[in-house]
Amino acid sequence: MKPEDIDFDNLSFSHTPTRSMYISKRKLNDDEWEKGDLFPFGEISISPAAGVLNYGQGLFEGMKAYRGRNGKPRLFRPHMNASRMAEGCVRLAIPPITEDVFLDGVMKTVLDNHDYIPTPEQGALYVRPLTIGNGPIVGVAPSPEFTFLVYVQPVAPYFKGSLKPINLIVTNNYHRAALKGTGGVKAIGNYVAGMKPAGEAKSANYSEVIYLDAAEEKYVEEVGAANFFALFGDTLVTPRLTGSILPGVTRDSTMYLAFDQFGIKTEERRITIEEALTADEVFCTGTAAIITPIGKINYKEEDYIFSDGQVGKTTRKLYDALTSIQFGDAPDPYNWIVEL
Ligand SMILES: *Cc1c(COP(=O)(O)O)cnc(C)c1O
Repeated sequence: MKPEDIDFDNLSFSHTPTRSMYISKRKLNDDEWEKGDLFPFGEISISPAAGVLNYGQGLFEGMKAYRGRNGKPRLFRPHMNASRMAEGCVRLAIPPITEDVFLDGVMKTVLDNHDYIPTPEQGALYVRPLTIGNGPIVGVAPSPEFTFLVYVQPVAPYFKGSLKPINLIVTNNYHRAALKGTGGVKAIGNYVAGMKPAGEAKSANYSEVIYLDAAEEKYVEEVGAANFFALFGDTLVTPRLTGSILPGVTRDSTMYLAFDQFGIKTEERRITIEEALTADEVFCTGTAAIITPIGKINYKEEDYIFSDGQVGKTTRKLYDALTSIQFGDAPDPYNWIVEL
């Protein structure tokens, strides 16, 4: 789709093809990932015996490029996405993508599609890196060939206008991930298991589910594909990274900002669902959701109300601090932004 045919004031989250994508390949036994190239965005051909199609040998990343007030594209902490994808590769027996190829792919794709980047009021350019085992393999073993690919598309802001609390339901019927499994990396196969629970939550008028830990079904893990936070007095708590929780870039940034800019005490530890329900404010974080306030949590057929529409003071402060750095409305004392 041409940029001039896009209605940037009414973006959605549905797929919008853009100009180009980046592709790099390597064989399992090659010494390194090749520097990739840009290609016109379009379909790729793949063997029916590809490792990714048969055994889910693949990872994704999710990032946003914002258009700065000076017009230049801005990436937020892209090195963290590069290292997270490399760690995911190790877990999924994929030769780890190198930081230089990852960043080369992200930067080249964003720059070549710069005219698809909305203003912060209109949304952002969502950046989707993928690493997949595309070589044919019928035995359960690593694919003989791998592809690293980056594509981008404009997306709407998560909140049009003002922040609005969402309602969540705790599930005792499903788990997202188990200790020592693959929940700590963005393995493509982790996400399909959440579709049915999320669908059931939506039918009951909740936006998403809160998952509890798979071992004891007692501790809060995550909110769909976003990290969970609870504020108790002047202490902000988020579940410790146990292996089944995804180490979010937004999670890390929120903890850092809370402490550094507002002197809020921060703790990474286990939180039982009972304790979470007594919090003063609760919210969840992610690249898509940024910082999303939670208004109500349903647990065992009972609704626990945190807000009836208004946004908690600390949640709001953290949202404003984070988005001002991302959008370029505040200085970036942490060198989080990479301007292209
Ligand atoms: C991607 C993701 C997050 C959020 O990570 P960010 O780096 O902040 O976008 C949280 N939980 C899960 C399960 C995820 O896949």
